[in-house]
Amino acid sequence: MPAPPAVTLPAEESPLTQPARPAPPPGAPSAPSTVAAAPKATARQVFSAFTGRNLIQHLEALQKAADESGGNRASGTRGYEASARYVEEQLRAAGYKPVRQVFTYRDENRGTDVETFNILADTAGSAQHTIVVGAHLDSVRRGPGINDNGSGVAALIETARWMAETGIQPKNRVRFAFWGAEEVDLLGSQHYVDSLSNGEIAQTMLNLNLDMVASPNGGLFVHDGDGSSFGDAGPAGSDVIERTFLDYFAQNGLAAAPTIFENGDSDYWPFLKAGIPTGGLFTGDDDEKTAEQVQEFGGVENSEYDACYHRACDDISNIDRQMLHDMAGALGYVTVAFAMLPRPD
Ligand SMILES: [Zn+2]
Repeated sequence: MPAPPAVTLPAEESPLTQPARPAPPPGAPSAPSTVAAAPKATARQVFSAFTGRNLIQHLEALQKAADESGGNRASGTRGYEASARYVEEQLRAAGYKPVRQVFTYRDENRGTDVETFNILADTAGSAQHTIVVGAHLDSVRRGPGINDNGSGVAALIETARWMAETGIQPKNRVRFAFWGAEEVDLLGSQHYVDSLSNGEIAQTMLNLNLDMVASPNGGLFVHDGDGSSFGDAGPAGSDVIERTFLDYFAQNGLAAAPTIFENGDSDYWPFLKAGIPTGGLFTGDDDEKTAEQVQEFGGVENSEYDACYHRACDDISNIDRQMLHDMAGALGYVTVAFAMLPRPD
């Protein structure tokens, strides 16, 4: 397999490190936050822009999709279809042209074949350097999946909308990916990676993944790309992704902590196995918060990050809204940092 292009982020050339615009005079009407956060924005400006963005509306729409479809949004169900239509409407309204990538899998429990799909939507920019930013759209059958993974979907939709509204012209193509059948066995992301030629794998600059980013007793966790905390580094370049996320949190005075890349844990895994630099965000599932993490993030010690993980109570009330904004802003910042990175052709 050909090696993916090395990922480096030269701080001097980063469009994100250019000087901020002067503040408007007192009393002047403030510009829409989406404009203020243009591509030249700093981490602090991106944070401000996302604070004003309505992420909850997406969670409400996904909750409604579940409520009208037997309480869940699992792959192959009406709830999944309703979720997909909502995502597609949002993307189209922002000027994207979403496409469905259909695949079929065998549901052994039910003894049936299930047809489902990923949704993919691209920005302009060089396809030679494609950034795949993904979140799984399906829930488990036991519940509506609002933290897992409506939260990641909301952050992804808002990043796509925000980029469109700023008028940014990405140098490198960003492909927003809403994966199907993650809860079955990472099937959608695996299907996507399997469908790439060796050339397309080489042209995949990196993958960013969001899976659960608003856990009620959570922490701001960044995947350990450099292996400094858990010993297992991602493919070369994953260290730069981790550093760029940490840079966002540090510049905004937010504590962040590393989390491990785990075999089969989420949709970054097929990318990682294919040698593509990967990284992402997570606020915790049914593991318990440590004393050290309570020091960093607050919350309840020896209690699950998300007590409703894969349960019916993972609903619209199972969300830490501040954390969701912090994570969505981080995704926006890092996506644009790599989208605007000058690359040799
Ligand atoms: Zn998940």
